[in-house]
Amino acid sequence: MFVDSHCHINFPQYADQLDAVMADMAAHNVDRALCISTTLEEFPSVHALAQRFDNVWATVGVHPDNEGVQEPSVDDLVQRAALPRVVGIGETGLDYYRLEGRSVADMAWQRDRFRVHIEAARATRLPMVIHTRMASDDTVGILKESGQGDVGGVFHCFTETQSVARQALDLGFYISFSGIVTFKNAADLREVAKYVPLDRCLIETDSPYLAPAPHRGKTNSPAYVSFVGKFLADLKGVSPEELGRVTSQNFEDLFSLVRPS
Ligand SMILES: [Zn+2]
Ligand SMILES: [Zn+2]
Repeated sequence: MFVDSHCHINFPQYADQLDAVMADMAAHNVDRALCISTTLEEFPSVHALAQRFDNVWATVGVHPDNEGVQEPSVDDLVQRAALPRVVGIGETGLDYYRLEGRSVADMAWQRDRFRVHIEAARATRLPMVIHTRMASDDTVGILKESGQGDVGGVFHCFTETQSVARQALDLGFYISFSGIVTFKNAADLREVAKYVPLDRCLIETDSPYLAPAPHRGKTNSPAYVSFVGKFLADLKGVSPEELGRVTSQNFEDLFSLVRPS
């Protein structure tokens, strides 16, 4: 059994297909999924899924790419995090990919928003779901300065170097691999995936984005985390069953979950 540790199945394209999404998961030996918030505005739809399906959980957070949305206070996050089946803070972090003419200095608002999430994680003692792109020095630096020893979580959809992986592991974080690891041009990432100890790995789809081979280019779905899992198993020289068992255990340990009965 595999777990999709990061998906966005509250997005509108799934609205009338959720029963099929769930059936597909079961057919591909995917028993659980974590649905990730990217704005406060959409949080009710994420939380509703976690209440509707007993194998789906929710997080609360505002993605660093989202501008023109409600800016969260620590309290906004803490209050929503107290609701049943909310098990993490995020996704949050830094993304300097779309600077659109701005300098890194201009992105102070992203760093402020990230610090608000770290405060909320510390207050709730919940794990963080970290998104970082073209910004690993600042992401790790802010985690070190504001959260060291106090907060943990996962670096999701990991595409950084082995050195960044080492720093994340040293901070006590898990590292999650998505369908990107199956892409032809991802040889460097495959080396990083070999390097990260299995007992610190998670797997995810980031649906609807990043469908793994052999479904690359299609709308992704939590069922496809099984392709990520099998691919990673091959890479690490373990059976798919072992990869599924250990990454599911990691998921439970990180988010303090029990197996669905
Ligand atoms: Zn992300
Ligand atoms: Zn995401």
